[in-house]
Amino acid sequence: MKNIILIGAQGAGKGTYAQILKNDLNIPHISTGDMFREAIKAETPVGIEAKNYIDQGQLVPDTVTIKLVDERLARDDCKDGFMLDGFPRTLAQAEALDKITDITHVIILDVREDVVLQRLGGRIQCRNCGFIFHKTNLPPKVEGVCDKCSGELYTREDDQPEAIKKRLAIFYEQSGPLVDFYDKKGIVHHADANNPVPREVADDILKLIRTE
Ligand code: AMP
Repeated sequence: MKNIILIGAQGAGKGTYAQILKNDLNIPHISTGDMFREAIKAETPVGIEAKNYIDQGQLVPDTVTIKLVDERLARDDCKDGFMLDGFPRTLAQAEALDKITDITHVIILDVREDVVLQRLGGRIQCRNCGFIFHKTNLPPKVEGVCDKCSGELYTREDDQPEAIKKRLAIFYEQSGPLVDFYDKKGIVHHADANNPVPREVADDILKLIRTE
């Protein structure tokens, strides 16, 4: 069973590596950020509640987030494992997750701040399928158009500079205790996410997971 958590600062590339790894490992990629964005689009009660927090670059309250993840992990496709991206973000979420399931691997994506700043400048996401491109690192074949589904590409509201700064500050403040929590369990591994080639970083992560 591969119950994996990916932890990294915004711009470390979590979503990009997860898109690659979900095919290699045949387990779902569960991104709470994507789930919230879908909920907002569909105007569900969770989406309506989460929208104000996300637009302001703040974390959605733990109760809402934990319930969302609990329901998602109960689904059939998670029975052989899953890859969590963006969750847990707080100690309370990690403790709640501990009660729901056993985590087997925590992958920390180490990345320098200058690399993060370069990457965040150019993220563009498909409005339709959610795939993330980058203006220089992973450009679409046609500007503004998704290669996969021809959807429209856009800069996410929460990728605007002010929201990014708030989210980075929150990440540095909250990830410390989270890493300590999993370190004590001896399941933490580090991958070098400064490498600009996503496939190579994904291969490093696979090695960490498969040598267990
Ligand atoms: P992301 O795409 O992972 O950066 O998430 C986008 C936004 O969704 C974050 O800035 C938060 O407002 C919200 N969000 C995603 N995951 C969580 C989480 N685990 N706890 C609280 N809020 C979250």
